[in-house]
Amino acid sequence: MSPPTAVELRNLRFRYPDGAEALRGISFSVSEGECVALIGPNGAGKSTLLMHLNGILPDRLPAVPAVTVFGRPVTEDNLAAVRRDVGLLFQDADDQLFCPTVYEDVAFGPQQFGDDASVPGRVAEALGKVGLSGFEQRAPHHLSGGEKRRVCLAGVLACTPRVLVLDEPTSDLDPRGKRELKELLRNIPTTKIIATHDLELVVELCTRAILIDGGSVVADGPPRTLLGDEVLMLAHGLERPHILQHHHPH
Ligand code: ADP
Repeated sequence: MSPPTAVELRNLRFRYPDGAEALRGISFSVSEGECVALIGPNGAGKSTLLMHLNGILPDRLPAVPAVTVFGRPVTEDNLAAVRRDVGLLFQDADDQLFCPTVYEDVAFGPQQFGDDASVPGRVAEALGKVGLSGFEQRAPHHLSGGEKRRVCLAGVLACTPRVLVLDEPTSDLDPRGKRELKELLRNIPTTKIIATHDLELVVELCTRAILIDGGSVVADGPPRTLLGDEVLMLAHGLERPHILQHHHPH
């Protein structure tokens, strides 16, 4: 039996009130267990797309939405359930951290569910998964960039989402921070959708890549096939990643 469909987009269109069309009819579906990279130049529409996956956009959800999560259309009535299923890690850690302690920041999400008894256990487990056990009483704003990113990820994981949606998870991290985050993500079996410019992450972690440009899907396939196609990459403001550039004879 094939795995269930986690996320489905059917002709998703979106225009910001003051701007051009950011998404011009995007369709694809993601099965449970896939790790899908969204790649494309700045302004392609990746962040806008991600914000549709848990109903942050559009401001007013249509009666017949273009996005479905585990069979549930993203409508006003389904919004709470959809947001439990889809955990979104924003690009900027500082937007997501606003409490005096790491514990409170990670506990914030699960506290919204009204199941208070489970919160301490969820926080402990999530901090363990991101390698930050013992950081509970630290001030998030005094942590390194990599640690902040991991606190944010713990906050998302503490809600045990069925789909993990990550916007540029390795941006602004130093090489070690990148490596650590990639290892963490590799060990999280949840369905993942990752918008990123980190093409090494795409090759190392993802089972599929979707190239978006100008609000449309340009290509959809195995990471090595897409990223190895230099003409395609250059035509859309990207480059062939270094790890695909050399033939290793040994
Ligand atoms: P990406 O994440 O791929 O860089 P975005 O989704 O951020 O792309 O942007 C897609 C398009 O929407 C761009 O043309 C961008 O200028 C525009 N856009 C993004 N956010 C806003 C906003 N808040 N208001 C108006 N236009 C926006």
